[in-house]
Amino acid sequence: MAGCHRTPDVTRGAGETWGPGRVFGIVPLPDNQMYWFATESTPEGGHEADEKTAVLDRFGTWYPPIRECIDNTPAESILRHDIYDLAKMPSTFVRNRTVLLGDAAHAMTPNLGQGAGQAIEDAATLVLLLRSGDITAALARHDRIRRARTRTLWRQSRLMGKAAQAANSVAVHLRNSLLRATPPAIVSRSAARVAKWTSP
Ligand SMILES: Cc1cc2nc3c(=O)[nH]c(=O)nc-3n(C[C@H](O)[C@H](O)[C@H](O)COP(=O)(O)OP(=O)(O)OC[C@H]3O[C@@H](n4cnc5c(N)ncnc54)[C@H](O)[C@@H]3O)c2cc1C
Repeated sequence: MAGCHRTPDVTRGAGETWGPGRVFGIVPLPDNQMYWFATESTPEGGHEADEKTAVLDRFGTWYPPIRECIDNTPAESILRHDIYDLAKMPSTFVRNRTVLLGDAAHAMTPNLGQGAGQAIEDAATLVLLLRSGDITAALARHDRIRRARTRTLWRQSRLMGKAAQAANSVAVHLRNSLLRATPPAIVSRSAARVAKWTSP
């Protein structure tokens, strides 16, 4: 993942490109800034002596402006990390008066871009429920509401990651055909459902 000035033409908005076993994403930011990310399934803990060259080797031939994004990024601002999610969701987020929020409760893969959003939803839900003054009831309700919502997103995020990172050529062909056949309205509706928070 890396940030740089938006010198390449990335005015088309945020987006991801899914290739066989690899993903490249570009996100324009205000003030002429942007960040990009690149993912590949590799053994845990791996590092290259020169991460910029490694990314260029893997993604430099993808369509413009991917190469320019990488070229325009100072090597020292490229970060490489393994990605983890929870192997299993906890059976409760609440014990007595202790509540798990955010990644401590429901760390998910970044494929839906919902990890921080869900931490914020947790906090907003908790604050609103605690206004009732009945702490025990508020925490029980928080647990019920938040586990249901975050479990769905945690599963979807994992599934999306598997689809995005598919490397097998048959799986890639099926995935691409399915995506091409999916009407944009369905994609928009499902994205809206992911982003929709309902106040308790
Ligand atoms: C590559 C990547 C891309 C992502 N993209 C998105 C995105 O587009 N949209 C989105 O919504 N989310 C995204 N996320 C997820 C998001 O970053 C996390 O879900 C979010 O940061 C979780 O917030 P948190 O406060 O629960 O935990 P954290 O952000 O991990 O905060 C926990 C804090 O507690 C501190 N801490 C830990 N132990 C102790 C201790 N013992 N004492 C004191 N402090 C301690 C840590 O240093 C840390 O600062 C992404 C994550 C990754 C890895």
